[in-house]
Order: sequence, then structure tokens, then C-alpha cells
Amino acid sequence: TRYVYRFGGGVDDGGQGDRNLLGGKGANLDGMAAIGLPVPPGFTITTAMCTRYYEDGGVYPDSVKAEVATGLAHIEGITGKTFGNAADPLLVSVRSGARASMPGMMDTVLNLGLNDETVVGLASTSGDERFAWDSYRRFIQMYSDVVLELDHGAFEEALEIAKEDQGYTLDTEMTADDWKALVAEYKALVEKLWNKPFPQDVHDQLWGAISAVFGSWQSERAKVYRRLNNIPGEWGTAVNVQAMVFGNMGETSATGVAFTRDPSTGENVYYGEFLINAQGEDVVAGIRTPQYLTKAARERAGAKPLSMEEAMPETYAELAKVFQILETHYRDMQDIEFTVQQGKLWMLQTRSGKRTAKAALKMAVDMAHEGLITEEEAVARVDPAALDQLLHPTLDPKAPRDVLTKGLPASPGAASGLIVFDADTAERRNEMGDAVILVRVETSPEDIHGMHAAKGILTARGGMTSHAAVVARGMGRPCVSGAGGISIDNSAKILRVGGRELKEGDILTLDGSTGEVMAGEVPTVQPELAGDFGTLMVWADKVRRLKVRANAETPQDCKVAREFGAEGVGLCRTEHMFFDAARITAVREMILADSEKGRRVALDRLLPEQRDDFAQIFMVMAGLPVTIRLLDPPLHEFLPHAEAEFEEVAKAAGVGIEVLKRRANELHEFNPMLGHRGCRLGVTYPEIYEMQARAIFEAALIVKQRGGEAPIPEVMIPLVATRKELELMKAIVDRVATEVFAEQGDSVEYLVGTMIELPRAALKAGEIAEVGEFFSFGTNDLTQTTIGISRDDAGRFLTQYVDKGIFARDPFVSIDVEGVGELIQLAAERGRKTRPGIKLGICGEHGGDPASIAFCEATGLDYVSASPYRVPIARLAAAQAAL
Ligand code: ADP
Ligand code: MG
Ligand code: MG
Repeated sequence: TRYVYRFGGGVDDGGQGDRNLLGGKGANLDGMAAIGLPVPPGFTITTAMCTRYYEDGGVYPDSVKAEVATGLAHIEGITGKTFGNAADPLLVSVRSGARASMPGMMDTVLNLGLNDETVVGLASTSGDERFAWDSYRRFIQMYSDVVLELDHGAFEEALEIAKEDQGYTLDTEMTADDWKALVAEYKALVEKLWNKPFPQDVHDQLWGAISAVFGSWQSERAKVYRRLNNIPGEWGTAVNVQAMVFGNMGETSATGVAFTRDPSTGENVYYGEFLINAQGEDVVAGIRTPQYLTKAARERAGAKPLSMEEAMPETYAELAKVFQILETHYRDMQDIEFTVQQGKLWMLQTRSGKRTAKAALKMAVDMAHEGLITEEEAVARVDPAALDQLLHPTLDPKAPRDVLTKGLPASPGAASGLIVFDADTAERRNEMGDAVILVRVETSPEDIHGMHAAKGILTARGGMTSHAAVVARGMGRPCVSGAGGISIDNSAKILRVGGRELKEGDILTLDGSTGEVMAGEVPTVQPELAGDFGTLMVWADKVRRLKVRANAETPQDCKVAREFGAEGVGLCRTEHMFFDAARITAVREMILADSEKGRRVALDRLLPEQRDDFAQIFMVMAGLPVTIRLLDPPLHEFLPHAEAEFEEVAKAAGVGIEVLKRRANELHEFNPMLGHRGCRLGVTYPEIYEMQARAIFEAALIVKQRGGEAPIPEVMIPLVATRKELELMKAIVDRVATEVFAEQGDSVEYLVGTMIELPRAALKAGEIAEVGEFFSFGTNDLTQTTIGISRDDAGRFLTQYVDKGIFARDPFVSIDVEGVGELIQLAAERGRKTRPGIKLGICGEHGGDPASIAFCEATGLDYVSASPYRVPIARLAAAQAAL
């Protein structure tokens, strides 16, 4: 097997780049070299080698050693420099690069190949001693951190002290001699911390770095990132070894990162940051404040330091040309890393850029309008899950704001929450149900779990491309970065801003779209659904086959659902209507009654209320199907607990408290979720379902008679296991329908069907379909009952199940296609055999999950039903599934 692929200088072994093998970075370096862009020569060691590295316990086959030597020779041939040569040394970078981009998650080593001898050669060939020693100290620091895993704080401290001693504030003030002295200190530090001198053999350095990159694939932070982003552990990373180019060779040198369009707003303008006389990691690390790329951006921000467009007009023009070439070539917005060495532009990376949901939407629609991509590609481009961000409220522009300070608008959206100062606390408070805002000086990959747990992120330092900004945008968390006006006292847990002090637990509001940081909570407003969003939805609806309904049980939810394009209600749970303060006493009276007569008295009081509920929903959903599930939960959920509640029921029912309490005791169940619930309630207390059916049909006729378009009620019987259960329940519903229609001299169309949420029902779907006119897969319960895992208790162990690869994803979030999915397929098949054209849908959390929707499409269901806010996500996911 071949493990090494060369690129640059007219060679591209990888062809157009197989990203699975070469990783994203390697494939695109190869791709850029292939289309003639200036890429420093190098080679990629494949992801297959990473897998083998772990299989073989960290040893390399001889063939790979030879291939790497050939790769080095390739670089040497093009650069004319020799690795380890004291007179004119070749320096390389060793860079990780997985299939999916994992920004900042894995390690990179720059300036590799420097030692006590080659640094002298570098000084003389470059004619710049300061540059050579600056590079050497950077190398020792990075290598010690990444490869030797020594405490990087010690190195940073040594640099700080060196600057202080000289009275400097900036790294740029350090002279050649200062760097030289620091290198000596660094080497002493390495000996002290590592008990061995800093490796002088350049080949040892190289293999050490290669192994560190492979090793970083299994680092804790990489694992967390993979888990959050659903990246499989077996993919592995590639390693890229590439000739160094130097952005730290004086005022005509620079390094930068850029996006071909604005990744925050999606606007078609170049966007980026650069630093003169610096190396790559300086921009991201936020050590110095970067300068703007374009003049327009600089002017808009009112910043002084010249933009690249102004400071280096020729190189900038060349870069702009490269932007065009790359966008056309990759047909997408690109995120680019570049370096300018003494006026010459070098491309170091390109990839499809991460973007906010808003930007993804705008870019997809713009690019389709520009003709760069098709409408269908535009539909495929937008991550349905990311749409979520656009569908949530933003700050009410008219609400008063107590603005504390303003930082950079690093990731859009608004959030309020309690201040926390570290990632662990963020995670803990989030688990306790608190909304938190994570406040940090700057974030690093170790903070990632806290960023995930937080509703918003605020940093004191760092630019628009800082770690915090990039990660927050990827996660869809609002983020304000570089809020220079705040100071954070981590030990006292105090945030100081403009003479005010905020403590941990105080409420803070962030507006990631403006950069504003506010004290207290600010009210929010609903998002705008016209414009690009509307356009994309129209395109999505053109290709989608699956219908999309909403799970909604209030007129308000139904309105939101319709605005979001729901084509019906897939699940209207009736029990929530019973919890209403005004009704709960009647409900309790009904439950605690010990005779049918007593129950009917209470039910008679509930009927008008329930009828009114349905009438309001039917008005909103005029002409559309509304699936109403008859009462489902175990009765004990409605039981009174407090003494006062018992008293109230006792008064209403005219019985003694002791009687009620005894009755409540009788209703106690050991395992209520498998107990007296669902259609078992209808079997034992048919009068309950009778009342509900009557409410449904009377409400439907009210709406019809008011001149509204008649709704199409679909009466759904929950938790059916056998045909006979459904038969009995359907008989009740049909009888009541006949009665009501006779009373009113009018009728509406309706269906009676069932939820498939027990394995037995799925297996016996053929028989059940003889009675039921539709199936709705209740995948929450079906998952619980199929796997035998209680959703309410699974939190304690499910993460481990996912970590250990037992489940690829949480089966309550994304359908367990192999197991639960097979039951669904089987039930669909058997149901259709008895009743061709039987209406099939899915309700439950999975109805809004894109992967589950793809499964529903593949299974040929008729519709999915999701919560109102997820309806657009489901529409888009359904379209993508159909493409
Ligand atoms: P990451 O995946 O974290 O972005 P990279 O491998 O892209 O890591 O390296 C980070 C930065 O290091 C790059 O953006 C670039 O500025 C710098 N860099 C990497 N390789 C080279 C090189 N051969 N010459 C100059 N700078 C480099
Ligand atoms: Mg990079
Ligand atoms: Mg259920």
C-alpha cells in the first residue's frame, strides 16, 4: 500500500484529491497545486497510515520510512534546500488534517528542522538573524508543547519575563540577541522538564512530530469534538509535511486567514484578517490584534492600521484573484490560510468555510442566483439542523438595554443566562437546568464542553477568527469575542466592566449579531421568515415528497406551525389540555370516582372545555388533517399530591378526603409507563374516549357550520398492541360520530387509526391495518419498548453507549435504523399489504431529526411530524432526503 502522496512543483500524486485518504487539508493542498496555485511543496501521509499506526502500536513499516524520504527529496528538489543541512536548511511544517475539518482540534508544528547548527545557516541565507532565532524559539516552544507535551505555560512565562526584563510590551520589540537568549532558556527548560536535551537530529524531530499528529487523533479534546460533530473515530487523520514559507521575514511578509464571503452574514464580500511580520498561529491565538483584509471593512470598523488591500495592494490583488479561482473551482465559499513571504503569496490551506446558518442560507440562495450552483444544490447545501438558529428569537430591538460594552459580533443570535467563568461550571449548571453564559478571557479547545453547555459565549480577547468565534459559529451559539472593555478575575469570579462588577450567577445578555453585552435579561422577538429563507423553502418544497406536519396542541402552536409551513397536525396530545388549572379538579374527580356514573359527571364538565380546545385548533388548521391522540398517560400522573389539592377535589366531588386518598393509593402503579395507560384506559373507562370523540366531532361541525373549511380529524388510539383493542376503541369512536352527525344533521370526513409504539403492534400490523385507517409511528415509545431502555433514565448511561460505539447516536434523538427501523419497515410493509394506501406517518422527537427523516423517506412513509419550530428543518431535510 502506498502511504505517501506528494504535491507542489508540478507534481500532484493525489490527482484531484481523495479526501478520505488524504484528509481535507491534504486533498485541497493537492487540488490547489494541481490548478497551478502557489502552494509550498510537500507530501501527505494518508489516513490509512493513521489507522495502521494504531493497529501496529505506533511503529512504522520500513516502506513508509522510504516513502517519507522520497517525499522529503521532492521538497528538497523544488526548494533547493536540504533537510538538516547546516548551510542552507530546509524547514517544514508538520500538519494534521482529517477528512472533516476539526479546526484547532489537532496539532501542527512549524519551523521543524531547526537546531543549533541549522539556525545559523538560516540566519545567513536569509540575511536576517532576528528572523532565524525567532523561528527557532517558536519551534522549540511548539515542539515542546505538541510533541514533548511539556507544560506550555512555563515557556510563555519565560517569554513574558524576558520581555518584562527588557521593558518591552510586544514580541516584535524582541531583538535577535533577545531571541537567542530566550532559545538558551527554552533549551534549559526542556532539559529540566523532559530530563533530556531538546532533540537536535532533524529526522528525530520529524518522526516525533508525525507521531504526535497521529497521536492527537485520540486526544481528549479531539474525541469530544468528534462526539459533538458525529465524526467517526475510525476515520483517522492524515499528516501533511510541507516546506515552510515565512510570514515573519519583516514588513513585506505577513500571514492571514480569509473567507471568500462573509461567514457571518453571507454577504458576497471578501472577509479576513492578517498580521504583518508574523507566523500563522499568531492570528488565531489572538496575541496581537489582526488587521483587516479589505479597506471597506477597515473603514466600516473605523480602525486605523492599514488593511492588506492598502498595505500590500499588489499581493492583495493576487489574493483576490485566487479567491475567485477557488470559489469557481470548489463551487463554494472558501476559508483560506495564506502567507506572504517578502511580497510573494503562498496558499497554505483552503476548505469550504464554516458559516453561520444565516450565511449558509444567503450564500446558497445567492450562489444559485449567480448560477454557480443549481437550486437543488442550494437545497442540499444548507444543514437543516443549522436552520434552527434562524428560527429562534432575536433581541427585541425596542426593548431597553443596559449595554455594558461592545465586542466583536462573532456568532449571531441572542442569549441570556447566568454568568459562569469556566467550562466545568457551565456544564454543571446546564445539567441543573440553568441557562448559562460562559465568560472567558479567551477560549481554547479544552473549553469545548463548556461552550456546548452554554447558551452564549463572551470572550475578552480574540478576533473574528479566534477559537471562540469559529467554534461558536459551528455550534450555533451566540458569541461576542474580543470584548476589550471587560476584565475578568477568574479566582474571585468577578467580571468588571465600565466601573461595574458582575458576579458568577448574575444575568447577562449577549447579542452575537451586534457584539453588544448587556446586564440583565432582554426580551426577544420572532425571526423573519420571508426573503432567502422563503426562497430556499420554495425550492425545498419542489423536490420534497414527504409531507410535513407538526406536533401541536394549542392554537398558538398550530399558528406557529402553519407559519412554518406545516401541512397538518401529526400529533395533538390531549392530556396537556387536562392539566389546565381550571380543569384539573374535574379531571381528578373523574379519575378518583369509583363508578362510571361518577366519572360521567366529571366528564360532562370537561366536554365543553375539550370541545372548545379542538374547535380553536380546527379553526387554525382549516382544511388540513389533524391527528388527535386520545388520552394516553397513566392516570396517576393526574393524581393530587398536596393536601389542598385533595381538599379541592373532595369538595367538588362531595366525598371525603380519606376515600379519595384510599382511591389514589389503589391507583398507584409500580411501572406506570407499562401500566394503565393508552388504549387500556379506553378499554376500562370507555366513557373517557367517548367524551373525547364527542368533543372532536362536535368541534369539527362547529367549525364547518361557521363557514370554515372543515378539518379532517384523524382520531388516534394510543398504545395498541392487538387488533381487538383497536376494534373496541374504533367502535366507540364510530358510534359517537354517528350519534353526533345524526344530532347535528351534518357530518365531516374522519379517520380512525392507531399509533404503532409497541413491538407487538409492529409485528401484527397486518391484522391491525384491517381495522386502523392510518398508522403513526410513535417512535419515542417504540424506541423505549423495542430496546427496553427508559428514555427518562437513559441519560445516565447513554453517553457511554455512544462513546463505546454501541449506538452510533442517541436512539432517542436519531432513529435506531437497524433495530427500531426494521420494525417500522416491517409494520409499514404488513400494514400496506392488508390496506393498500394506508396513511403512514411518524410523530415523536425523530420527526424533526434529519437522519431519521432520511430513513422515513427511504421507508416511503407519507409524512413526518415535528415540533412547530422544527417544521422548516423537516421540510428541508425531507427535500434533501428526496434528492
Ligand atoms: P490548523 O488545522 O489548526 O489550522 P494548520 O496545519 O493549518 O493547522 O496550521 C496552522 C497555521 O500554521 C497555518 O494557518 C499557517 O499559517 C501555518 N503554517 C502551516 N504550515 C505552514 C508552512 N508550510 N509555512 C508557513 N506557515 C505554515
Ligand atoms: Mg489551518
Ligand atoms: Mg407513546
